[in-house]
Amino acid sequence: MWVLGVTGGIGSGKTAATDYLASKGITIVDADECSRIVVEPGRPALTAIEEHFGSEAIQVDGTLDRAWLRTQVFSNPDERKWLEQLTHPLIRDEIVNQLNAATSAYAVLASPLLFETGQSAFCNRTLVIDVSIDTQLARASARDANSVDQIKKIIAAQMPREERLEKADDVASNEGSLEELYAQLDKLHESYIKLLR
Ligand code: ATP
Repeated sequence: MWVLGVTGGIGSGKTAATDYLASKGITIVDADECSRIVVEPGRPALTAIEEHFGSEAIQVDGTLDRAWLRTQVFSNPDERKWLEQLTHPLIRDEIVNQLNAATSAYAVLASPLLFETGQSAFCNRTLVIDVSIDTQLARASARDANSVDQIKKIIAAQMPREERLEKADDVASNEGSLEELYAQLDKLHESYIKLLR
């Protein structure tokens, strides 16, 4: 399967872009969703987390208490490492399985941390959805309950815009309207189909 990696900072328009590619029949594999699947109830990773961190890690409905776990690993590098060593190979397997199951002309791997996590290694080509920091702040704060300060912190923790742009094979600017984004995606989609031939 030929894989296009789609990434971008918080509020850049990754979902807007991948929803549009999905409407053209392209299979979208969402790395965030894969990371949630591997710790679903009944999965061995959830049992391992409960054994390691205790029952506090599990909510009354049997699902992982992600917010609680985040606070545990936030200031403890050893715990973070333990958790990553458990989940990263499982997430990688889930991504690969979903990509292999795709039947569309090509598949998209959508990930906010495509370059940071090395998931770009699964991709034949990468596309960055790019906006200015001002636009990120405006769109993400209009959408989420997060304050502008919280979004600034998330942006600071993600790869700097310039570095992301440098790593990308292709860039679509989402500074304008959705129609302008879609027009760029139409051209890129055609170029990927041509590349595949
Ligand atoms: P995150 O990584 O935070 O999940 P994302 O990169 O997936 O974000 P989207 O959710 O697609 O970004 O877009 C962020 C917000 O901006 C959404 O509310 C979306 O509707 C809006 N948005 C996206 N593109 C545009 C656009 N071109 N014009 C106006 N609003 C837009």
